[in-house]
Amino acid sequence: MECIFCKIIAGKIPAAKIYEDRNVFAFLDIAPVNPGHILVIPKLHYETIPDTPPELLQKTMLVVRNLGDRVMNKLPCDGFNIICNNKPASGQAVPHVHFHIIPRHQGDGLHLHPPGKKYVEGTLEQVRRKLASTVRV
Ligand code: AMP
Ligand code: ZN
Repeated sequence: MECIFCKIIAGKIPAAKIYEDRNVFAFLDIAPVNPGHILVIPKLHYETIPDTPPELLQKTMLVVRNLGDRVMNKLPCDGFNIICNNKPASGQAVPHVHFHIIPRHQGDGLHLHPPGKKYVEGTLEQVRRKLASTVRV
């Protein structure tokens, strides 16, 4: 078992646990962007959001929702970001799907919203068609 998050779930590596149930585990990120930065993970190992079975993803997101409310009320903070990196190209370092809950404070100086690019003339519609035709719920 190489996955560091699987080792945390198995109790082989210590972690600052915030929440645990049969399916989901949450703990403090060891290198917080802001104090109270939480990681929420399904206990079963899947790499990305699309790899994760829908019901397990739902359960994980309900914990994200609950802990988002908790950081707002208990830290407290002014807001929070949910970030989930999928695949190394996106910045995913640990290949076990995880949701970052990053508490934010007004004027904390973080810039998590990069500047937007422009579509080359005519390509927006091409991209829209490609994506719209493949979405299934
Ligand atoms: P990502 O870049 O989205 O894969 O995020 C991985 C996160 O896991 C980083 O924010 C790390 O600080 C965090 N991390 C790595 N190892 C540990 C650990 N042993 N305990 C808590 N957080 C960790
Ligand atoms: Zn894992």
